[in-house]
Formats: sequence, structure tokens, C-alpha cells
Amino acid sequence: MSKRRKDPSEIEKWLPPDKLESFQKNLLAWYHIHQRDLPWRRPENMTPYRILVSEIMLHQTQVQTVIPVYEKFLERFPTIETLAKAPLEEIKAITDGLGYKVRGSWLKEIAEIIIEKNQGKIPQTLDELQKLPGVGRYTAGAILSFAFQHDAPIVDVNVERVLSRVFGVNKSEFQSPAKYQHLMYDIAHCVIPPKKGFIFNQALMDFGALICIARSPRCSVCPMRLICIYYQTHPQQLSMDQFFDSP
Ligand code: SF4
Repeated sequence: MSKRRKDPSEIEKWLPPDKLESFQKNLLAWYHIHQRDLPWRRPENMTPYRILVSEIMLHQTQVQTVIPVYEKFLERFPTIETLAKAPLEEIKAITDGLGYKVRGSWLKEIAEIIIEKNQGKIPQTLDELQKLPGVGRYTAGAILSFAFQHDAPIVDVNVERVLSRVFGVNKSEFQSPAKYQHLMYDIAHCVIPPKKGFIFNQALMDFGALICIARSPRCSVCPMRLICIYYQTHPQQLSMDQFFDSP
């Protein structure tokens, strides 16, 4: 399991306690009402194997593109054993539809490694997961969070956008991209209420996809307005949002 930063005061300036509490409460309340119904969140698909498949497919790919491929894939390869034994061409015939064609090979290799070297069990640590083909920091965190309920941070473009806007982290002010990325992971870790990583990370992703969207964030219906640095420093945002929301 990933650990919390040793000295939380280092990032306390980004996350004042009152603001952090409001952010957590507002996000969970919003998610309770607006969460998306996605196939990989359904009870029958909440196994480590099926979550791993969804995360490999979702990386840098739109949800709507992934849904039919994911469903077809699991119909044909319902378990990691069936996937490990399947011919690569048959796997790719389904996954190549996602547009990033190496993913079929990754999935087959992962299945073989897990069956042959890990007794059929998906690893449960960041380091072990990142040794699997195609599994980077984001995918490993998502698997830990969604398959094993760890409070692991995940930072995709949606999450990064929400956190940087609400907490006022400006990428251009960082000389080193690695330093910025490191801070975003620290923030993404520290905002998770203890033992709620599973639900909180889903909420962050949905919020970034539905409310705090890239081009015209929907500030007029956003529960974060009172605490959001971006909103406070872009006073024109509300009127733009109303313009874009107009029928
Ligand atoms: Fe995003 Fe606007 Fe909400 Fe801030 S107020 S979190 S910019 S939608």
C-alpha cells in the first residue's frame, strides 16, 4: 500500500484544514447524487482482474469508447485464466478497436505473468504492479484503489485539473515538471479521507468529467465555488459558464 507523506506540514499550505474538510464533504455529497453508472463499477465486475482490464483500457481513452470493448472482452475472457490461454490475435481483434493497439499484448502478457509467476493473483503493491507491462503510476494507483480499497492517490487529467483549480496549483510556476507531478500526487493522497479512497477517487474522476471540465468548467452549478481558487481568480467564469450552458 502507498504511504502518506511523512511530513504533512510540507503541503499544508496547499490544503488548509477547513478548506480540505469542505472539499471532501462537498465532493462526497455531490457524488452521492451524480455518480456515473459505469460497467466496471457494477458488483459483478468488482474483481481485481476485471478492474485491471478496465484500467488498462481506460488509460488515455474516452469512457464511451471503452464501454463496448470492455463488455465484449469480458464476455469472451471472463477470467484471467481464459485470457492467459487465448491466442493474441483473438485478444487484439477486440482491443485494437480502442485505437492504442499495444494494449492487447499488454493484457495477454500480464495474464501470463500473473498465472505463471504469481499464482493467479493480481499484485497489491505499487512497486509490483508497476513491473507489469503497460502499468504506470496512474494505473497501479487505480488498481490499488478500486480493486483493493487502498487509499492510493490517482492523478489523471481530470483529477489533476480539479485539484490544481480548487487548490490553486499553477503548473507554470514549477521549474521542474517532476516536482509539480510529485506535489499533485501528494495532494491527491492527502485529500482522501481515511479508508475512503475507493469512493473518493471515483468521485474525483466523475467530478472532473462532469463539472470541472476543461474548456468551460460548470462553475454555476459547482459546489466548490466558495473554496475554489480558480473560480475566485477568474470572475468572468460564471458568465461564460452560463453562456455555454444556454440552450
Ligand atoms: Fe471547477 Fe469552477 Fe468548480 Fe472551481 S468552481 S472546481 S473551476 S467547476
